[in-house]
Amino acid sequence: VSETTTWVARRVREARDHAGLTQAELAERLDVTQTAVSYWEGGKRAPGLDDLIAIADALNQPVTYFLPLKSSRESIRTLLRATADRLDARQLRDVLDALLDEAEALPGLKQQVAITTTDPQRAASELLQLTGTASPPIDVDALAEQCGAHVITRELESDLSGLVIALDEGAVIGINRAQSKQRRRFTVAHELGHYLLDHHDRFHLDFARNAEDGHPPGYDWRSERAANEFAAQLLMPEHLVHTQFEPLAGSVKRLAKAFEVSELAMSYRLQSLGLR
Ligand SMILES: [Zn+2]
Repeated sequence: VSETTTWVARRVREARDHAGLTQAELAERLDVTQTAVSYWEGGKRAPGLDDLIAIADALNQPVTYFLPLKSSRESIRTLLRATADRLDARQLRDVLDALLDEAEALPGLKQQVAITTTDPQRAASELLQLTGTASPPIDVDALAEQCGAHVITRELESDLSGLVIALDEGAVIGINRAQSKQRRRFTVAHELGHYLLDHHDRFHLDFARNAEDGHPPGYDWRSERAANEFAAQLLMPEHLVHTQFEPLAGSVKRLAKAFEVSELAMSYRLQSLGLR
């Protein structure tokens, strides 16, 4: 029996105990036999990465909890690959690998500002205040860098709009180049929101799928809504929208241009601020 198998066996048992589940209950949640769970916990058989991701989901633990990998860099790569395989997206696996290569070749970024709240609107306001950002358009790439996140814009698998990966130091935000400039800016802000609001274990992927295709594993609409609220307040801060509203005659088109956001995003924003 390998050291890894023994390690994983102990972690699964500990996490199951912690969750207050019996082997049978865990087996039911995973749609496997109780024997399978008992073999994993006894170290007689090692669960595959697919199984581990499902176990992590079922027991509410980060997948890294179950992995004895030496460096977190190694574990993040393994996890990204396993996730891509699970989504049955071979192209995605290559894209994520290339993105990590690119990120690791960049100089490490120091996080210069730290956010103290998990409320999306307040987090965005705090960031703007800490960085002294006072006029539109908001330089979202620069803000991300000050938070320790590199922004890399490249060709990504077509239905991936953006992603954020936490590295040993800082993070990398990957943006699909196929989107419009305004959309890319919103995606950067959205991913930065996930990163600063701690929505993920080590990484988060955002797909621009049709609703009928369903959501990828791990999708949480609360995090998505929070990241969108963060992005809206970051790119279209309430007080700046108010300041610009009169001079730009309340025109959605002109306001969108001034803030470098889509007219649709500005129109939503004006509605939510009661200006439309
Ligand atoms: Zn998201």
